[in-house]
Amino acid sequence: MNKLKLVFATNNEHKLKEVKAMLPNINIVSLADINCFEEIPETADTLQGNAILKANYITQKYGLACFADDTGLEVESLNNEPGVYSARYAGEESNAEKNMQKLLKKLGANQHRKAQFRTVISLNVNDKQFLFEGVCKGRILTRKQGKNGFGYDPIFSPDGFNSSFAEMSLEEKAAISHRGKAIKKLVTFLRKNN
Ligand code: IMP
Repeated sequence: MNKLKLVFATNNEHKLKEVKAMLPNINIVSLADINCFEEIPETADTLQGNAILKANYITQKYGLACFADDTGLEVESLNNEPGVYSARYAGEESNAEKNMQKLLKKLGANQHRKAQFRTVISLNVNDKQFLFEGVCKGRILTRKQGKNGFGYDPIFSPDGFNSSFAEMSLEEKAAISHRGKAIKKLVTFLRKNN
């Protein structure tokens, strides 16, 4: 069987690496691989809306099968903040460090630290659109732990673990993560339908 060529609409090297490791039988190409260097609009106010916007942009402009993901960290006692605004929680000039500091400050000594990462994937293939969701439940730590990963990884500890995502290997994280779960659903779907 010929390998399916699929664009993963991301510029994030960490995510690309994670996803390629989970999809060895599919030819995953990045935005750079298709010479797409423009900023893709992410103007929706839901994770699903943004995933659809990104995948549609590539499929419509380049005529290629494509999937896009959007992820948010939803903190229960903060009304599910930062959610769809996770990347720019501390403002337009934000980075992972500033975002984590803002979140830790907002939670303060609050004992109610339940949170979840949620990923929505939108797939365009054969002129149809499909959605997949993955959730990883856990809690926000009181301080950063570990150096691996990206984003909020140092302050998120998944249920059943004392360590943070940033203390796990790529493989350990992918096995239990929101994106890992959403990608598994995508993979199962692609295996059945291609
Ligand atoms: P994106 O829209 O899927 O790129 O995710 C939005 C933001 O959520 C990112 O900029 C990160 O701050 C955060 N994020 C997404 N996935 C993860 C993860 O696996 N670990 C930690 N933070 C993440």
